[in-house]
Amino acid sequence: MTTAAQRSRAAGVLQGKVAEARAELSECRSCPRDCGADRCRPPPPLCRIGSRAVVSSAFPHHGEEHPLSGWRGSGTIFFAGCNLRCVFCQNWEISQSAAGRIVDAGELAAIMLGLQDHGCHNINLVTPEHVVPQIVEALSLAVPAGLSIPLVYNTSAYDSLRALRLMEGLVDVYMPDFKFWDPETARRLARASDYPDAARAAIAEMHRQVGDLVLDDDGIAVRGLLVRHLVVPGLEHETAEIMRWIARTLSPDTYVNLMGQYRPAYRVPGSHRYAAIDRRPTFGELVAARRSAAAAGLHRLDA
Ligand code: SF4
Repeated sequence: MTTAAQRSRAAGVLQGKVAEARAELSECRSCPRDCGADRCRPPPPLCRIGSRAVVSSAFPHHGEEHPLSGWRGSGTIFFAGCNLRCVFCQNWEISQSAAGRIVDAGELAAIMLGLQDHGCHNINLVTPEHVVPQIVEALSLAVPAGLSIPLVYNTSAYDSLRALRLMEGLVDVYMPDFKFWDPETARRLARASDYPDAARAAIAEMHRQVGDLVLDDDGIAVRGLLVRHLVVPGLEHETAEIMRWIARTLSPDTYVNLMGQYRPAYRVPGSHRYAAIDRRPTFGELVAARRSAAAAGLHRLDA
């Protein structure tokens, strides 16, 4: 079975995307911030990352959803920097800094190939929204060098359609985390009031490109969309809206992971301003989230 990127290379499409990706770096509109920064010159843009991606860590991850981790692990590459400012970010040391190994396209390609050599089921790009141009260039080297496992795009869903069209034909599995429904919540908790609109447009585009999640005989994801949703305390009405939108606009067959691991982190612990989310979700809230998914007609809920 070939991957999307292998098919794009065979069709001569992959190489053509590289020039487009490089051009993006001199006036970047890769994400919904649409800031037009020249990423080849200082100062660093809002996402904190210049012309070269920064990798915080890369390893076989055994804690992702079973369709990704399987038994050999998901080949996870954590990128530093982010285009959101979530006040509860559990990875804030990575997302809110540019700390890590600065890599050029060849080095990023070598990391991908190393994870494949390790036996990982896939390459899992974590927080890729702001480094799409760098990923495209790395793939143009990695695929001819033998990269042949599926590519997972593991995103906050704060992606631009422009970036997703650059990734079209390269990604096998899209895994967006649809976080907020209400623009005011998104403004208050992630400094991005346009997040709900951007996420709906992005996830619909992802679904258009790859369809519902397809698993192989071993239950490993080979293609499609897997939607995550982090259950944040007190936002159950937003969870219900998101579940209804997924079922109605995408498909009731959408594979959904309702994540219960929220814990207060980053700016939240002890903060009066964020007191409402300074706790873990209750068991009742987690049950309510699953009920709202079921009530919406969603039946492929991750265990
Ligand atoms: S990816 Fe970074 S530089 Fe590009 S538009 Fe977004 S915030 Fe600006």
